[in-house]
Amino acid sequence: MPDLPDLLPLAEAQRRVLEGIAPLPAERVAIGEASGRVLAAPVDAAVTLPPWTNSAMDGFAVLAQDVFGASAATPVTLRVLGEVPAGRAPDLAVEPGTALRIMTGAMMPPGADAVVPVEDTDAPAGASDIPASVAIRAPIRVNDNLRFPGSDVHAGTRLLEPGRACDAAVVALLAATGHGSVMAHRRPRVAVISTGDELVPPGTPLGPAQIHDSNSYALAAQAVEAGAEVRRLGVAGDTLAALLDLLRDAIAWADVVVLSGGVSLGAHDHVKAAFAELGSLALWRVAIKPGRPFAYARAAVGDRSVSLFGLPGNPVSVFVTFELFVRPVLRLLEGRPNAYDRPVRTARLLQPMRGSSGRHTIARVVLAADSDRRDGLVARSSGGQDSYMLASLSKANAMIFIPPDADLDAGAEVEAWELRPRDS
Ligand code: AMP
Ligand code: MG
Repeated sequence: MPDLPDLLPLAEAQRRVLEGIAPLPAERVAIGEASGRVLAAPVDAAVTLPPWTNSAMDGFAVLAQDVFGASAATPVTLRVLGEVPAGRAPDLAVEPGTALRIMTGAMMPPGADAVVPVEDTDAPAGASDIPASVAIRAPIRVNDNLRFPGSDVHAGTRLLEPGRACDAAVVALLAATGHGSVMAHRRPRVAVISTGDELVPPGTPLGPAQIHDSNSYALAAQAVEAGAEVRRLGVAGDTLAALLDLLRDAIAWADVVVLSGGVSLGAHDHVKAAFAELGSLALWRVAIKPGRPFAYARAAVGDRSVSLFGLPGNPVSVFVTFELFVRPVLRLLEGRPNAYDRPVRTARLLQPMRGSSGRHTIARVVLAADSDRRDGLVARSSGGQDSYMLASLSKANAMIFIPPDADLDAGAEVEAWELRPRDS
């Protein structure tokens, strides 16, 4: 038996990987590119919203007292002086007995104190000429259908705090409050490398003893989903020299390098040696199943620190160790407040599940609503749990953690990380 390091407990391995990881520097990002980026500085409103009183409806700006008591049976007819379209300041005032046609969002004209929706008049809805007069068929109160300055946002108030990710609602608020750009953390650059003489690209026919490289595509997809900018650097054959070549290119560009394969006990596994040559190995071998051979190192390049992940080659091990170790690092580099941001659920097992000796088992499961308990969830295995089985991985919507040496009966409660919406 070779001299092997003790298996690190999962929590200790996660702690070592995240140690000292800090958000990437801030840069100015145009609002059109801000989706998914994380704010690096607080944002205050540059303008007041609405900036001036405007109409909430397409209709007629009136004096409410003129249409007191109006109804379909007893309409009130007003003379229409003209109109206020969107984007033009009104050049007329409403006087008693008159109205101005007004569009949604247009500036309220002086004199008027309410807007009657076009639906409550005899005027045609939609594109039409300005009528000479309008019959109002419903009463209205002062201030009805008006939107007042500052009722949404006051200039100078704090809108958003650092660490907030720009989703569509945030982008809308930023744009509406006059921000053409924001300060956001740089996106992490992730370089992906596969290792193994057996690998050929998907889409090419397989020769004897060959398999398709699935890991680098899976990892690129996971990294993009986690918010990174990704380059796949290709496949390194099973020599130290080939690996060092690609790894040097990766380190020159990336914040995070993710390799798969070549990190176990095989005679042609060179990843740890390559890590030791270009950086320093922080850990190797973790008490998890799948993923035991996981390795992590850091390399210093000038003032940059590059994280080097050596993921085991089996495709399910790749998926799971990315979730456990790589994604949390990417989230912190992006400037998000939480490294672990998968929704954590408690679920009731529908079948017995066996843990493994001395290791956390991470099982792929399907979470579903529990028909017996309101708001409860049940979990069942998504299928074969071996670390090469991709078909069952694709069926899973969550992964659960079975503690070391635990044998769980049907009905046992487990903690699950939800990986995608349950009904998708
Ligand atoms: P290794 O740790 O390099 O011995 O790889 C473990 C298992 O994962 C072997 O069955 C490899 O063929 C497989 N494997 C390694 N890299 C990849 C990859 N990029 N895509 C698919 N399978 C892989
Ligand atoms: Mg290999």
